[in-house]
Amino acid sequence: MRGKKRRPIVANFWHLIPMLLVAALVFNGCTALEEARQRREKRLLEERNASSLMLKTPKSEIDPDNITEDGLFGKSDHYTIKFAEDLQQLPAFDEIDEREEFILGALGYMESLYDAMHELFGFHPEHKIHVTLHDTFRDSRLGAFTTTQYRRGMINGRYVKSIEGISMDFPMQMYEKHGVRAHELTHAFTNIYYIPVWFSEGIAVLIQTEYAKGGLHRKYDSLKADARIDINGKNELENWGGHTENSPLTQWRYRYAYTLVAELWERYGADFYIKVFELMEADGLHQQLEDLMPTSILVYYLSEAAGEDLVPFFRKLYFNDVRQLTKADIIRYVEGLNQNRRQSNQNRRRR
Ligand SMILES: [Zn+2]
Repeated sequence: MRGKKRRPIVANFWHLIPMLLVAALVFNGCTALEEARQRREKRLLEERNASSLMLKTPKSEIDPDNITEDGLFGKSDHYTIKFAEDLQQLPAFDEIDEREEFILGALGYMESLYDAMHELFGFHPEHKIHVTLHDTFRDSRLGAFTTTQYRRGMINGRYVKSIEGISMDFPMQMYEKHGVRAHELTHAFTNIYYIPVWFSEGIAVLIQTEYAKGGLHRKYDSLKADARIDINGKNELENWGGHTENSPLTQWRYRYAYTLVAELWERYGADFYIKVFELMEADGLHQQLEDLMPTSILVYYLSEAAGEDLVPFFRKLYFNDVRQLTKADIIRYVEGLNQNRRQSNQNRRRR
């Protein structure tokens, strides 16, 4: 699936942008919220980084001419990177040479990580990723964020979303963690499919832990026994509000989502999720859904890739709203959405 083709609907879309787009929203993928961990854990993490397979020379050379003279901004094939103001005041980055050297190394590393991720998933985002490094971000040194901006609107009577840009914000303390970079880059890749929060985080922790060997979240022993249930009897994973959430359940959610995603990965093989994304890409329905993909639709794709119905598996884990769908059901649902949108637009015009 390399060299991802744009579907015709997207091609039309770009021609019609000025007329038809009604909203540009910011949707965010994540926070890799981490507690201020013990030094020991950091040391262990760095030792593993040293032997990481991702520290290869990137395929594309980083050209020093692509760094501005003040050493505040640089670009490469898939990234731009810049220093936020608060970082320029720190002794380690207050000189141009220091910043230039850092940017050169960072772009090289991030390109290498990008190559590895592209190889792993078989697809890559079409947009450049804009990285900003901070001393603190949103008053914290502990949260890294990947944000996917998207547009949505009616095109020829159909509701369509499309990606407008991808940005990443790292406090330097988080950027220095190899696992966090892998986690965030996973979001940049997989969020082009508008997947549910729990799946997005689960897969990011899976890549961070199993692939980049930089994970801080441990798996639970039992998906059944370690499930947390809300007042309606539903698995608390479904209530994950996303990046801004700071609840007593947040750490549980990361661990449980990882355990769940890892369970299916172990059961169905290393290329299981690649197949899932390929199936989504082939159908192109993810772009026509309102906001994020409902879990039932995700479970449809998981089941297709697994070759068996996974609804009973999810129902046993208290995903009570998950139901078995066919592709015809999903198409009917999308058509219903389109019809509702057309009607509400007409009503608005009449008013
Ligand atoms: Zn995340």
